[in-house]
Amino acid sequence: MTVYRNYINGRWTEPRSGRYVDNVNPATGEVLGRAAVGTEEDVAEAVAAAKAAFARWRKVPAPRRAEILYRVGELLRERKEELARKMTQEMGKVLPEARGDVQEGIDMAYYMAGEGRRLLGYTTPAEMPDKFAMAVREPIGVVAAITPWNFPMAIPTWKIMPALVAGNTVVFKPATDTPWMAYELVRIFEEAGLPPGVLNLVYGPGETVGEALLRHPDVHLISFTGSVESGRHVNQVAGAQLKRVHLELGGKNAVIVMDDADLDLVEQAVTWSAFGTTGQRCTATSRLLVHEAVYDQVVERLAARAAKLRLGNGLDPQTDVGPLINGRALEKVAYYVDVGQEEGARLVVGGRPATEGELARGFFFQPTIFADVTPDMRIANEEIFGPVLAIIKVRSLEEAIAINNGVQYGLSSAIFTRDVRNAFVAMRDLATGICYVNHGTIGAEIHLPFGGMRATGNGHREAGLAALEVYTEWKAIYVDFSGRLQRAQIDEVKIEDIG
Ligand code: NAD
Repeated sequence: MTVYRNYINGRWTEPRSGRYVDNVNPATGEVLGRAAVGTEEDVAEAVAAAKAAFARWRKVPAPRRAEILYRVGELLRERKEELARKMTQEMGKVLPEARGDVQEGIDMAYYMAGEGRRLLGYTTPAEMPDKFAMAVREPIGVVAAITPWNFPMAIPTWKIMPALVAGNTVVFKPATDTPWMAYELVRIFEEAGLPPGVLNLVYGPGETVGEALLRHPDVHLISFTGSVESGRHVNQVAGAQLKRVHLELGGKNAVIVMDDADLDLVEQAVTWSAFGTTGQRCTATSRLLVHEAVYDQVVERLAARAAKLRLGNGLDPQTDVGPLINGRALEKVAYYVDVGQEEGARLVVGGRPATEGELARGFFFQPTIFADVTPDMRIANEEIFGPVLAIIKVRSLEEAIAINNGVQYGLSSAIFTRDVRNAFVAMRDLATGICYVNHGTIGAEIHLPFGGMRATGNGHREAGLAALEVYTEWKAIYVDFSGRLQRAQIDEVKIEDIG
């Protein structure tokens, strides 16, 4: 059984609490390892190490920093299968999806390694003669990377890699449910030759270890992915100290199905994006807005398909849908099924925990579909984060777009149509940070900006070039080589004086 300790200043260290918690396989109940319970003192030590390391790391040429990231990408690629199998055991997603999660980390490593030879700033003419002006990117300092459990490899790499290539140092606090993946990732950075203190890992609960990071005066940037409730708190605490706060929060993502859509494609794509990762993706499809002309057909097809999905251990190639992450998640999903029924939605399939045979050992819930949902119902507005799809009947594209845009979240949306006008109206008017045409709401690629509008975040974007805006700040530099005092905006520049 593996013991995951904190990693501070290049050493695997015991937590000050002396305590460890079990890491449990959500499909089987098996204990996989034991993770440190960090404390405020551990955080202080990790931040001090990151602060000290920053003084040197910021001066390491970015192409050299990038070589280490490239090496991390190579190690992830070599160990992809092994890591994916561990991930499936740790958090339940089926093996092909776990491979995809590791692949996102590999993609991000190579992409950000390339940024080491760009990190572009710009030069621009100065308004005074014999003067040079440029804008360069600077690292911010110590970054706290606080991550959820649903993409335990991808999301940490999305934060740590752009932060490091830009010259920041990091204290990483992973979710309590996924310590193993964090351990494996940090070990790979260590093996790739990252100097001590540049990346530190502290395990522990959000309320203590996370909170200590939010409040520590030497942490300059909080990069947080999690729920809206936690994100709001993070923003209040860290924002009050004028830290930079980058938030990636929840979603209530909708797919629009128009009357001219390819329904075979809709059936496949919606099943995948509603029930993949057991519905536990921030971009999962949780609302389906179906044109009345094809409504009955779509409900019937999806219900038949959902009923056939096989639940089980994600390592079994026969399994379509794995378990939920833990008992609390199971209770939350069951609660929302009750809410939907009380609100008058029609339960067409699923609706109960799945406990037959081996499933009784894990946290399984039947893929669930509600039809005849109305936009005002709670199940059409609140993030359930489980295998529950709410189907709403619409009469027009305009009505569908208004319903899509009417929730507090604005992460991902999609439209299925063969009509180019419908597609372009949707691309223009869907108020989400990500929008798909003839594809479900999941499947983002790492070189495009990732994030959402309204309560899904606070305007920043993860991944792509946008990530560099989070992890750097601009410095404007003026070099006056005129040898005299030149006052911008005050001294008049006469063309005839130019020699
Ligand atoms: P969560 O908010 O419960 O926890 C996320 C992380 O925050 C964990 O590491 C947790 O320990 C930490 N945390 C909790 N309270 C804290 C506090 N007071 N101070 C500092 N840290 C604290 O979320 P979760 O259940 O782990 O993840 C699911 C949520 O994440 C869903 O809402 C999902 O939509 C969202 N999510 C969003 C994205 C995105 O990119 N937008 C991606 C994945 C998941």
